[in-house]
Amino acid sequence: VITQSDHERLKRQSQLLLKCAGIAVTAAELEGMDVADFGLGEVTVSGAQILNLLDTPQLAVRLIVLLPHQTEPEHTHVAQQGYVGKYETLRCAYGCAYVYSPGPPTPEPQATPPAHRRHTYTVFHETILSPGQQCSFAPNTPHWFQGGAAGAVLWSFSTQATDNRDVFTDPDIVRKTVVQEAVMR
Ligand code: ZN
Repeated sequence: VITQSDHERLKRQSQLLLKCAGIAVTAAELEGMDVADFGLGEVTVSGAQILNLLDTPQLAVRLIVLLPHQTEPEHTHVAQQGYVGKYETLRCAYGCAYVYSPGPPTPEPQATPPAHRRHTYTVFHETILSPGQQCSFAPNTPHWFQGGAAGAVLWSFSTQATDNRDVFTDPDIVRKTVVQEAVMR
């Protein structure tokens, strides 16, 4: 659950980062921004702001905005019956992102998972994405990422996005965002 005021604040902060990235988006796209708290109730620690720009059965394009040190938790786009799983490419447009995937754990990584959820992270091979750099994940590849000191704006190019089929390593995660309405007085 995320409060209405956090929801608005994170949208505004993400809007500024998009401006820094020089990416033009419409007011409607900004309004439709998904502030994902993954059901953990600590959105500035574990969370991401997502603009869905295109989603077809073949292709999805998104912008993912991470605030400074905000972490998108570890997840896997699992291949399932009737679904090949999601191939995803992340490309940095602004700031810096630390991305982790299977491979030899990087000594002295730039980012660490939120300490109290560390037990739900399993991959620690680091890729640093600066503007103009990208990396890709085949289906069934666990990955997680964190914004650098100035946050990050990332393009996500992928095959069809089916968030409800993503598997998060953390069993406490609920992908659908619930915004708590402000209490009327
Ligand atoms: Zn992903």
